Amino acid sequence: MKIARYEFDGQVRYGLVEPESGTVREIAGEPFERVEATGIVRRLDEVRLLSPVVPGKIVAVGLNYKDHAREMGKKIPEEPLLFLKASSAVNDPGGEIVYTPQSQRVDYEAELAVVIGRKAKNVTSEDAASHILGYTCINDVTARDLQVKDVQYTRAKGFDTFAPLGPWVATDLDPSAASVRCLVNGEVRQDGNTREMGASVGRLVEFISSVMTLFPGDVIATGTPPGVGPLRVGDVVTVEVGGIGALTNRVVAP
Ligand code: MG
Repeated sequence: MKIARYEFDGQVRYGLVEPESGTVREIAGEPFERVEATGIVRRLDEVRLLSPVVPGKIVAVGLNYKDHAREMGKKIPEEPLLFLKASSAVNDPGGEIVYTPQSQRVDYEAELAVVIGRKAKNVTSEDAASHILGYTCINDVTARDLQVKDVQYTRAKGFDTFAPLGPWVATDLDPSAASVRCLVNGEVRQDGNTREMGASVGRLVEFISSVMTLFPGDVIATGTPPGVGPLRVGDVVTVEVGGIGALTNRVVAP
């Protein structure tokens, strides 16, 4: 299934996307408990896609790909390196990424995002899948100069619009071998695969849920492959994860 959240006629709904037919079948309520079609079908081009969930928190993982760690002059940490990305930074598919005047260097970071479906506390790696609703794309937009200057990541990763999420949640994805790409103005800038991740999705759910409870709708940003680089005002940036789809956003001036 591909589960989207969208606005139609001023109302926000969830639905099942069928990309081949260009339609979305509305479901009743939220998708975390059960998925039940209401019988209403819309064309994808008549709805506005929203971030597929409204996360209570985004737990992000730093330096989870060896070759990205190397390009940053670092090693993969022994334990996953966690930070929180503000939930207020969430941005919709097609939403504008607003460049901040506080930074001279705003980067894209294409990542696989895990969407939690069921409350998770002290979950083992083997049980992780039963707590996951599915997977989507996230762009962990980062003010690189502020990340270095502040040492803490809160400001660099926390600006409004710096967490594009979507376009929908794919429930039938193998997270151990998915391509993760970033394109800027149609040119490939990152071309990785989740098989190059240091800590697997299962390990991340185990590790994070040993620290903090994960709730339905929470998101884990699993780290970015090598090739990070700057965005400029006017750029169109796309994050693509194989088996999910494409998340595209434009960078605009403050
Ligand atoms: Mg990142």
